[in-house]
Amino acid sequence: MDALKNKRGFICDMDGVIYHGARLLDGSKAFVQWLTAQGKRFLFLTNSSARSPRELRQRLLHMGIDVSEDHFITSAMATAHFIAAQRPGGRVYVIGDSGLYQALYEAGLSVDESQPDYVVVGETRSYNYEKIEIAIQLVRNGAKLIGTNPDLTGPTERGIAPACRALIAPIEMSTQRQAYYIGKPNPLIMRHALQLLGCQREETVIIGDRMDTDIVAGIESGIDTALVLSGITRESDLPQYAYQPHHVLKDVSVIAGEQPGKAAKGTMP
Ligand SMILES: [Mg+2]
Repeated sequence: MDALKNKRGFICDMDGVIYHGARLLDGSKAFVQWLTAQGKRFLFLTNSSARSPRELRQRLLHMGIDVSEDHFITSAMATAHFIAAQRPGGRVYVIGDSGLYQALYEAGLSVDESQPDYVVVGETRSYNYEKIEIAIQLVRNGAKLIGTNPDLTGPTERGIAPACRALIAPIEMSTQRQAYYIGKPNPLIMRHALQLLGCQREETVIIGDRMDTDIVAGIESGIDTALVLSGITRESDLPQYAYQPHHVLKDVSVIAGEQPGKAAKGTMP
């Protein structure tokens, strides 16, 4: 536990770690207060590309947690960073929401519907047939296909909604091209997070509730991992994975030292 508490940088997944849908999870507030009080560097990371850091900040604020916009990283930001590094000033055709457009503009990329270098797809409620049809023509004409994240579904207040990979599937099938995906578990987003944190990987920990995204991303990036059991993964799921997290915790309150009687369920050797 000391090894975990002594880390300088914290990269935290959001859903299943800080909140569940619209409900704040136990101890999240204390954890964020602890991060602030201890002078830790921290980022909230989400694979969703729909919301901007400003919108994510508002979402947390509604739940009673106040952190500034520079404490968020999204798959949209990592995607924009990747494209800007590959092709500075590049042109993109976008199927996505405001969070994705904003990230692309901020990275110096421009939207082009006639001869883009890339077709970029993220989550959006304005998904429609016409856009898919255009995207397919552009990819057939040579535009490279990028997905902001490889998630098939995402959690919503109403249950499960299709996420990026489900939305991009018709383009992949019609063009016979595979999209390149940026979000977790691609280590690209973790490297971008480390850059934003200004921390080395050895002094950083990733906290998440999913083995197949959060934990594998940490392991493949050489960053220590902490699995919280407040989200998707149960402790009984662990044996089926070839890789194991460095720490297993009931929830993030354990790190803040809250509820000492009900502390960590166990720490992996
Ligand atoms: Mg999660």
